[in-house]
Amino acid sequence: MACPGSVGAENDPSPHPAPAALRTREGGTLGVSFERGHSVLTSISGRSVIVTGASKGIGKGIARVFASKGARVLLAARDLAQAQAAADEIRSQGGTAIAVAADVAKPDDIARMVRTAVELHGGVDILCSNAGVFPAARLGEMSLADWNQVLDTNLKGTFLCVDACLPHLKARGKGRIVVTSSITGPITGYPGWSHYGASKAGQLGFIRTAAIELAPHNITINAVLPGNILTEGLAAVGEEYLARMTAAVPQRRLGSVEDVAYAALFLASDEAGFITGQTIVVDGGQVLPESHMALEDL
Ligand code: NAP
Repeated sequence: MACPGSVGAENDPSPHPAPAALRTREGGTLGVSFERGHSVLTSISGRSVIVTGASKGIGKGIARVFASKGARVLLAARDLAQAQAAADEIRSQGGTAIAVAADVAKPDDIARMVRTAVELHGGVDILCSNAGVFPAARLGEMSLADWNQVLDTNLKGTFLCVDACLPHLKARGKGRIVVTSSITGPITGYPGWSHYGASKAGQLGFIRTAAIELAPHNITINAVLPGNILTEGLAAVGEEYLARMTAAVPQRRLGSVEDVAYAALFLASDEAGFITGQTIVVDGGQVLPESHMALEDL
């Protein structure tokens, strides 16, 4: 498993053994247990967390992992029914979760999302700005509408969510912001995703200056850079793409949503308080080979 082993409940020395770990789609086991126990990180229990794009995929994984550690989680997505289903799932496992319909590209939606967290969860401690879209369009075929859809959701949405949460994070005297970027853009490129790569690299430019401005308020902002993570969104790209990407990863598997969620959990922890404006790549080693030849001898 690629996530920090020290965080997972499978290393939990609690006298109350955790129930069987959830089985991932890749067949591995990951410790998402709703039992409380000792942890090497200070508990985030009771903290108010907003996760955007939380009805599916990585965002849902982040919401589930944070809720499993006792956080009160607000799940936001455009489709309220799906966000509610994800929140119901968390509640059925003993977590605290509410759902809100919000388009991250719309300031009024974001204001309502943040207001709901303040009213129902007593404030905002942690923002996971995760909502993103990745429709493919090559240059020459990409319309201005295609470009705007991706930049508005991925980059403008990050700014709007951070901006709306700031007064509440400042009021707490400390805060954590974790942005879901990507390897695509900051490190790599892929045909069809020039707009996407620009949005994801743009998020890193954003956090580097934001980190400086927010430092006096004891607020950190960092990013996770997932490689190929098996989500509903990635599955929609197609079986052939998934197979080729799996072959391109030294660990020979796609990532799970929990792989990313545990990296986000670390960045949101008290212990990560001196880390800001930084990135964690979660990709099973995908960006490392100099060429495909480096993988042929494995
Ligand atoms: P996904 O399975 O397609 O889920 C996307 C989530 O974002 C859904 O909950 C979706 O719900 C929500 N969303 C989309 N547009 C939104 C908007 N305008 N406002 C609010 N919510 C919105 O995607 P994913 O694979 O989990 O990706 C999540 C994030 O990880 C994205 O930022 C993506 O760029 C990044 N990422 C993913 C991978 C990967 O391999 N999967 C790799 C690198 C980075 P609604 O449609 O209902 O709004």
